[in-house]
Amino acid sequence: MTAFKELVAPPAWRTVDLISDLHLQAGEPATSEAWQGYLQTTPADALIILGDLFEVWVGDDSAASASSADAAGFEAQCAELLRRTAQRLPVFFMHGNRDFLVGPAFAAQCGLTLLDDPTVLVLHGQRWLLSHGDILCLEDTEYLKFRAQVRTPEWQAAFLARPLEERRALARSMRVQSEDRKRNPSTIWADVDNDAARDWLLQANARTLVHGHTHRPANHDLGHGLQRIVLSDWDAAAHPPRAQLLCLSTAGAQRVDLR
Ligand code: MN
Repeated sequence: MTAFKELVAPPAWRTVDLISDLHLQAGEPATSEAWQGYLQTTPADALIILGDLFEVWVGDDSAASASSADAAGFEAQCAELLRRTAQRLPVFFMHGNRDFLVGPAFAAQCGLTLLDDPTVLVLHGQRWLLSHGDILCLEDTEYLKFRAQVRTPEWQAAFLARPLEERRALARSMRVQSEDRKRNPSTIWADVDNDAARDWLLQANARTLVHGHTHRPANHDLGHGLQRIVLSDWDAAAHPPRAQLLCLSTAGAQRVDLR
């Protein structure tokens, strides 16, 4: 049985922005710049990040460290941007499969509120079921086994006890493996299981599931008045560039392209 935590929006929130899968990294400045421009100008009353904001996260000490290494500088800059944004509007963060190690120290540093996956957002009386989406990709059994392992406090404590440089090196080698998998034409990418999505929606007493993770933006009709909205990933250097948010309001859900 899945537990459905609730985030009840105060009446003053007219619009809530949802973004996910920016995969921010030092080597891809265009997307970071698009994100920075967005944070500085959004008129939303709250921002909810549905995971994979960062391409990789090896521990909150990577953002706190004043090391001159490029990666440390990048993470500290992202922290500062989030901190300034969170002074202006509430910012919520749900973990993705890339940045599941974002922890309470980073949240406190930036003024973020961490959200459980899934969480029901109650906005103007409407219930929106929010998830990163990876846990609903039931066909990806190998990944789900890995996920179950790395989400335990024991695994995380052991990993975070390693020196920062060792964790960075491990993340780099995992990234190479994942790039190989992306290049392999026989790789099959699992999608969110529609039956599981419907089950969740019925349990959560919600009609719409919003998630990211799959990088396949679409609105899926699940029947019985239920739907699944998939967020776009971001890549500001792609042709055409991708930088899209989903804006929730009394008018419903609206995709907004930023570029
Ligand atoms: Mn993901």
